[in-house]
Amino acid sequence: MTPKGHFEINWPLKQEKKKQYYVANQTKLKEYQKKRYAKALDEKDAYWDAKWKEEKPQFLKAWKEKKEAKGRDINNTGMEFSKRNLQTGSKQLKSFGLENDTKDIIKHFEGKIDETYNNFKAKIDHAVNSSRDLDEFDKVDEFYDDLFNNKSSTMRTTWHDIQMSINVELIQTARKFGKKYPGCMTCICYKCQIAIGVKNIKKANANLGYSIPSNSRFEDHMRRKK
Ligand SMILES: [Zn+2]
Repeated sequence: MTPKGHFEINWPLKQEKKKQYYVANQTKLKEYQKKRYAKALDEKDAYWDAKWKEEKPQFLKAWKEKKEAKGRDINNTGMEFSKRNLQTGSKQLKSFGLENDTKDIIKHFEGKIDETYNNFKAKIDHAVNSSRDLDEFDKVDEFYDDLFNNKSSTMRTTWHDIQMSINVELIQTARKFGKKYPGCMTCICYKCQIAIGVKNIKKANANLGYSIPSNSRFEDHMRRKK
């Protein structure tokens, strides 16, 4: 056994060294852990960067295709609906014997529909061609902002207004000759309520087999728009 005294003399020094060693080691360990963590983060970032780089072209391609398809769809639907509105109305007025009185109106709107369709088609073609080589989503979107990305989309508004005008013209022509034609506009927006009239919109909804919008629904809509 070592004498007790010998031990006591050396003890504080040993302990102090041990402590210093421990502290130094802890600091090193912490630094090491920090570095490892940073490296792991870097590796993680690098992993996702590489993954994104690899997958971005696919996403971008799908994004461009989706935008183009949406534009073409709005344009096709707008054109088809407008033609259908025109055909339904002209048939109805023809049955009233007003074939000659609607000839010019129909011709005018047929031209307007073609012109609008081709105009938007050219704009979509331009967007497709111009964004083909772009590799930023935002830049691609910019070409579609005015067409349909924005809330006040030009395409939807334009087609809506053409359909509304077709109905207004045919309703008024029928009225001029003492006939009643409600049109086939089922839209209950503020614009249509003013231009076409609530009664006609209700009738058009009923004629097409839709449930007739209640007065309160119109009124709610009017209130919201104010
Ligand atoms: Zn409307």
